[in-house]
Amino acid sequence: MQKRAMISGCSSGIGEDIALKLAKENWHVIAGVRNQADLERLKQYHNITPILLDVTVQEHVTACAEFFSSQQLSLDVLINNAGLASGGPIEGSSINDWQNVFAVNVFGLVNLSKTLLPFLRQSKGRIINVGSISGLVASPFMAIYAASKFAVEAISDSLRRELKHLDVHVSVIEPGPVKTKIWTKGEEKSHQSKATYNESVVAAYGEKLDAFEKAIDAAVVNALDVSQTTEVLYHACHSPKPKTRYIVSKRTLMIKLLRILPDKWADSLILSMR
Ligand code: NAP
Repeated sequence: MQKRAMISGCSSGIGEDIALKLAKENWHVIAGVRNQADLERLKQYHNITPILLDVTVQEHVTACAEFFSSQQLSLDVLINNAGLASGGPIEGSSINDWQNVFAVNVFGLVNLSKTLLPFLRQSKGRIINVGSISGLVASPFMAIYAASKFAVEAISDSLRRELKHLDVHVSVIEPGPVKTKIWTKGEEKSHQSKATYNESVVAAYGEKLDAFEKAIDAAVVNALDVSQTTEVLYHACHSPKPKTRYIVSKRTLMIKLLRILPDKWADSLILSMR
């Protein structure tokens, strides 16, 4: 029987690529997008049914569940992919920045998961959360994004343990930098927020921030191709033995090391990497 996946954030990047891959492998993909133009574009593909889904809008999330129930569709895999990034010093951040990122990366993920869980319990399906290496190691000037992705790790661990007896598997994918639009979207936002920093914040962090931006530019140049995350996501979708977590990075060993080193050693290492 044809398997079915629901994926949030399919307009570009990781979400779009795994949607196309699954559709090619004859899965039926329900692809969440946020505007009509993306919806019309994805409609052209065989096996893809795009739906309007902003994960922060309750009516959209409710309509998504109604879409499955009204058509009596089963659901085998939910991929929580929709996400935003934000950078900058905590002292210069606004609570609005925190709320916007958490609304998508954390509350949107939780809301979509809990709303679709009845379908996944029925199929003994899977949830795959797109986290990040920023959910394993928190770099300076990445607090908002890292905090949201650390939350994704905690939610994935709790959910996996809550759902074990119901045979619903939970995986979390932890990519390092991947070549997608998230970087340019984040750049626009960090430039906007930089303009709102007061003089003392600029004086305190200016130089470090410039170095941080250069490090981000270098990371983008060396970023993974999106096909590498797609391969891993595909494994988590279809393998009889999906892993609980998948680090997808050129620096897997370094990330594992940073998690076990004493804090002061890890701090020196992270700060020397910039
Ligand atoms: P992307 O191309 O910008 O894709 C992000 C997707 O999320 C877009 O489809 C975007 O839709 C959607 N989205 C944003 N806000 C949303 C909302 N409120 N409701 C529903 N959808 C929303 O970036 P990406 O790199 O593929 O990101 C996908 C996931 O991978 C994110 O969770 C990100 O944190 C994670 N990740 C990315 C990297 C990386 O280096 N690229 C590394 C680690 C983890 P619009 O186009 O309409 O904004």
